[in-house]
Amino acid sequence: PRLANQIAAGEVVERPASVVKELVENSIDAGANKIVIDIEQGGHKRIRIIDNGKGIYQDQLSLALSRHATSKIKDLDDLESISSLGFRGEALASISSVSRLTLTSKPADQETAWRAMATGREMEVDIQPAAHPDGTTIDVEDLFFNTPARRKFLRTHKTEFSHIDEVIRRIALSKLDIIFTLNHNGKTVRQYRGATTDKQVEKRLASICSQAFVDNAIAIDFEHQGLHLFGWVANPNFSRNQNDLCYSYVNGRMMRDKLINHAIRQAYGERLTHDSYPAFVLFLNLDFDQVDVNVHPAKHEVRFHHARFVHDFIVSAISQSLQQDIL
Ligand code: ADP
Ligand code: MG
Repeated sequence: PRLANQIAAGEVVERPASVVKELVENSIDAGANKIVIDIEQGGHKRIRIIDNGKGIYQDQLSLALSRHATSKIKDLDDLESISSLGFRGEALASISSVSRLTLTSKPADQETAWRAMATGREMEVDIQPAAHPDGTTIDVEDLFFNTPARRKFLRTHKTEFSHIDEVIRRIALSKLDIIFTLNHNGKTVRQYRGATTDKQVEKRLASICSQAFVDNAIAIDFEHQGLHLFGWVANPNFSRNQNDLCYSYVNGRMMRDKLINHAIRQAYGERLTHDSYPAFVLFLNLDFDQVDVNVHPAKHEVRFHHARFVHDFIVSAISQSLQQDIL
């Protein structure tokens, strides 16, 4: 099983930042509202995620570490309407096959915490009692220690950490009510406070995207035939020379989606010069059965069932907002 999991890991676990993404998404799926991310040496040495979510019962720990074990979908019908961030049941098994992973967890109604670790070629799970508050800690040490070919592809601590920072930025934008703390080598590098009021949201947006973005942002909020687009786009003046503020989400999941990027460019139209880029933070929500997220193991691509319709909706929502801003 270790070897099979290592092969699967090739698709999900590219680098420390992809480990962080999978683990933080698990914490979000578990309903955590406080997530601490401890990184050592850019994630080469350690990636530790501590959450206050619902936890994993003792008798489910070894299942959580085994491949294709997910508690999030029960049958094939659920695959058509995925609302959780995870669903493939691959991440923990894959990560644990290429690192030293320990999982410690305590559901609120279980008396003590338990710690699990998969070892050896067969990945037998060893389970011990432990001390831990309600919630879960996943500790990933020595990523790729047993797959030297992949370890060789890790970049410097600084570069890997900057990828992790970006992953947390993206997630923190989409889950404004969750408190995130990102530590590197024992120092707190980011602290995103929970934001619910407009003022708090603005503050959090500024701390993630810059005050300049907030000052130039046009709020978007459009609904049409089951599609809901909301968030912010910067006015095209600000956008000049900004190429790194492109954040889009489909049903809460961060995406690198060509259709969305294309629609946004089209809406900006001639307001953009040939070397300028739009800047935006946009959330598109639609019925879960209108979109297929099971396209790629890393889940950052989607397929819309009515792609043209979605595209044109985004173009018209943003064009209207830009126009209103100019009036
Ligand atoms: P998936 O997220 O696709 O279900 P994973 O391999 O990421 O698969 O996780 C396996 C299972 O372990 C999840 O379905 C969930 O039941 C459990 N799990 C993982 N992380 C956590 C967490 N932080 N809190 C509670 N349960 C978790
Ligand atoms: Mg998962």
